[in-house]
Amino acid sequence: MSENCIFCGIVAGTIPSTQVASDDRAIAFMDINPATRGHLLVIPRTHSTDLREASAEDLTAATLLAQSLVGRVIERLDADGANLLSCIGADAWQSVFHTHLHVIPRYKDDPLQLPWHPTPGDLDEINATAATLT
Ligand code: AMP
Ligand code: ZN
Repeated sequence: MSENCIFCGIVAGTIPSTQVASDDRAIAFMDINPATRGHLLVIPRTHSTDLREASAEDLTAATLLAQSLVGRVIERLDADGANLLSCIGADAWQSVFHTHLHVIPRYKDDPLQLPWHPTPGDLDEINATAATLT
Protein backbone atom coordinates (compact mmCIF):
# COMPACT_ATOMS: atom_id res chain seq x y z
CA MET A 1 0.00 0.00 0.00
CA SER A 2 1.42 3.35 -1.02
CA GLU A 3 0.11 6.60 0.45
CA ASN A 4 -1.72 8.77 -2.06
CA CYS A 5 -1.88 6.03 -4.68
CA ILE A 6 -5.33 5.98 -6.30
CA PHE A 7 -5.05 2.35 -7.30
CA CYS A 8 -3.94 1.25 -3.82
CA GLY A 9 -7.11 3.06 -2.65
CA ILE A 10 -9.14 1.00 -5.12
CA VAL A 11 -7.52 -2.20 -3.83
CA ALA A 12 -8.27 -1.15 -0.25
CA GLY A 13 -11.84 -0.17 -1.16
CA THR A 14 -11.43 3.43 0.05
CA ILE A 15 -11.75 4.72 -3.52
CA PRO A 16 -14.77 3.48 -5.49
CA SER A 17 -14.34 1.41 -8.61
CA THR A 18 -16.40 -0.84 -10.80
CA GLN A 19 -14.69 -4.19 -10.51
CA VAL A 20 -15.34 -6.96 -12.96
CA ALA A 21 -12.88 -9.67 -11.96
CA SER A 22 -10.29 -10.44 -9.33
CA ASP A 23 -8.09 -13.09 -7.80
CA ASP A 24 -5.79 -13.13 -4.82
CA ARG A 25 -3.08 -11.11 -6.60
CA ALA A 26 -4.83 -8.89 -9.15
CA ILE A 27 -8.05 -7.00 -9.77
CA ALA A 28 -9.72 -5.65 -12.90
CA PHE A 29 -12.01 -2.63 -13.03
CA MET A 30 -13.50 -0.24 -15.54
CA ASP A 31 -11.39 2.75 -16.65
CA ILE A 32 -13.31 5.94 -15.86
CA ASN A 33 -12.06 7.54 -19.09
CA PRO A 34 -12.71 4.73 -21.52
CA ALA A 35 -10.91 4.83 -24.86
CA THR A 36 -13.55 2.44 -26.18
CA ARG A 37 -16.55 0.61 -24.74
CA GLY A 38 -15.36 -1.83 -22.09
CA HIS A 39 -11.90 -0.32 -21.45
CA LEU A 40 -10.52 -2.09 -18.37
CA LEU A 41 -7.53 -1.77 -16.11
CA VAL A 42 -5.84 -4.76 -14.52
CA ILE A 43 -3.62 -4.12 -11.52
CA PRO A 44 -1.66 -6.21 -9.05
CA ARG A 45 -2.99 -5.75 -5.51
CA THR A 46 0.56 -5.08 -4.29
CA HIS A 47 1.88 -1.61 -5.06
CA SER A 48 4.72 -1.15 -7.54
CA THR A 49 5.38 2.02 -9.51
CA ASP A 50 5.48 0.35 -12.90
CA LEU A 51 6.10 -2.95 -14.59
CA ARG A 52 9.85 -2.82 -13.90
CA GLU A 53 9.24 -3.05 -10.17
CA ALA A 54 6.44 -5.62 -10.13
CA SER A 55 7.23 -9.17 -9.01
CA ALA A 56 7.10 -12.03 -11.48
CA GLU A 57 4.14 -13.48 -9.57
CA ASP A 58 2.20 -10.22 -9.76
CA LEU A 59 2.98 -9.72 -13.43
CA THR A 60 1.93 -13.28 -14.17
CA ALA A 61 -1.34 -12.86 -12.29
CA ALA A 62 -2.14 -9.52 -13.95
CA THR A 63 -1.28 -10.82 -17.41
CA LEU A 64 -3.39 -13.96 -16.98
CA LEU A 65 -6.32 -11.89 -15.73
CA ALA A 66 -5.90 -9.53 -18.70
CA GLN A 67 -5.84 -12.55 -21.02
CA SER A 68 -9.14 -13.80 -19.66
CA LEU A 69 -10.68 -10.33 -19.96
CA VAL A 70 -9.62 -10.06 -23.59
CA GLY A 71 -11.66 -13.20 -24.19
CA ARG A 72 -14.56 -11.76 -22.22
CA VAL A 73 -14.74 -8.44 -24.11
CA ILE A 74 -14.62 -10.26 -27.43
CA GLU A 75 -17.35 -12.69 -26.39
CA ARG A 76 -19.64 -10.47 -24.34
CA LEU A 77 -19.15 -7.02 -25.90
CA ASP A 78 -18.72 -8.35 -29.40
CA ALA A 79 -15.36 -6.62 -29.69
CA ASP A 80 -13.38 -7.41 -32.82
CA GLY A 81 -10.04 -7.50 -31.00
CA ALA A 82 -8.21 -5.78 -28.16
CA ASN A 83 -5.05 -3.91 -27.31
CA LEU A 84 -3.01 -4.49 -24.16
CA LEU A 85 -1.02 -1.47 -23.07
CA SER A 86 1.22 -0.72 -20.12
CA CYS A 87 2.72 2.75 -19.83
CA ILE A 88 6.07 3.05 -18.08
CA GLY A 89 7.02 6.60 -17.20
CA ALA A 90 5.30 9.94 -17.66
CA ASP A 91 6.93 10.37 -21.07
CA ALA A 92 5.29 7.10 -22.12
CA TRP A 93 1.83 8.37 -21.07
CA GLN A 94 1.82 6.89 -17.54
CA SER A 95 -0.38 9.02 -15.31
CA VAL A 96 -1.06 6.63 -12.40
CA PHE A 97 2.10 5.26 -10.87
CA HIS A 98 0.85 1.84 -9.81
CA THR A 99 1.55 -0.94 -12.32
CA HIS A 100 -1.40 -1.55 -14.59
CA LEU A 101 -2.37 -3.12 -17.87
CA HIS A 102 -4.98 -1.46 -20.04
CA VAL A 103 -7.32 -3.91 -21.78
CA ILE A 104 -8.80 -1.87 -24.61
CA PRO A 105 -11.49 -3.60 -26.62
CA ARG A 106 -11.26 -2.76 -30.30
CA TYR A 107 -14.12 -2.44 -32.74
CA LYS A 108 -13.91 -2.32 -36.52
CA ASP A 109 -15.34 1.19 -36.61
CA ASP A 110 -13.70 2.65 -33.46
CA PRO A 111 -11.75 5.91 -33.79
CA LEU A 112 -8.44 4.73 -32.30
CA GLN A 113 -5.33 4.94 -34.45
CA LEU A 114 -1.76 3.72 -34.19
CA PRO A 115 0.23 6.49 -32.47
CA TRP A 116 3.10 6.10 -34.93
CA HIS A 117 3.37 5.88 -38.70
CA PRO A 118 5.07 2.63 -39.69
CA THR A 119 7.94 3.68 -41.95
CA PRO A 120 10.94 1.53 -42.90
CA GLY A 121 13.92 2.38 -40.69
CA ASP A 122 17.61 2.66 -41.51
CA LEU A 123 18.98 -0.91 -41.33
CA ASP A 124 22.42 0.14 -40.03
CA GLU A 125 20.80 2.07 -37.24
CA ILE A 126 18.43 -0.78 -36.43
CA ASN A 127 21.36 -3.18 -36.23
CA ALA A 128 23.46 -0.80 -34.14
CA THR A 129 20.57 -0.38 -31.72
CA ALA A 130 20.10 -4.13 -31.57
CA ALA A 131 23.79 -4.50 -30.70
CA THR A 132 23.33 -2.09 -27.80
CA LEU A 133 20.39 -4.12 -26.60
CA THR A 134 22.02 -7.54 -26.96
P1 AMP B 1 -2.04 5.54 -17.48
O1 AMP B 1 -2.29 6.92 -18.01
O2 AMP B 1 -1.51 4.55 -18.47
O3 AMP B 1 -1.20 5.60 -16.23
O4 AMP B 1 -3.47 4.96 -17.09
C1 AMP B 1 -4.16 5.37 -15.98
C2 AMP B 1 -5.61 5.16 -16.27
O5 AMP B 1 -6.31 5.19 -15.04
C3 AMP B 1 -6.24 6.23 -17.15
O6 AMP B 1 -6.76 5.62 -18.32
C4 AMP B 1 -7.35 6.82 -16.28
O7 AMP B 1 -8.51 7.09 -17.01
C5 AMP B 1 -7.58 5.73 -15.27
N1 AMP B 1 -8.07 6.15 -13.98
C6 AMP B 1 -7.59 7.14 -13.19
N2 AMP B 1 -8.27 7.19 -12.03
C7 AMP B 1 -9.19 6.20 -12.07
C8 AMP B 1 -10.20 5.73 -11.19
N3 AMP B 1 -10.40 6.31 -9.98
N4 AMP B 1 -10.97 4.69 -11.57
C9 AMP B 1 -10.78 4.11 -12.78
N5 AMP B 1 -9.84 4.50 -13.66
C10 AMP B 1 -9.06 5.53 -13.33
ZN1 ZN C 1 -0.50 1.75 -5.52
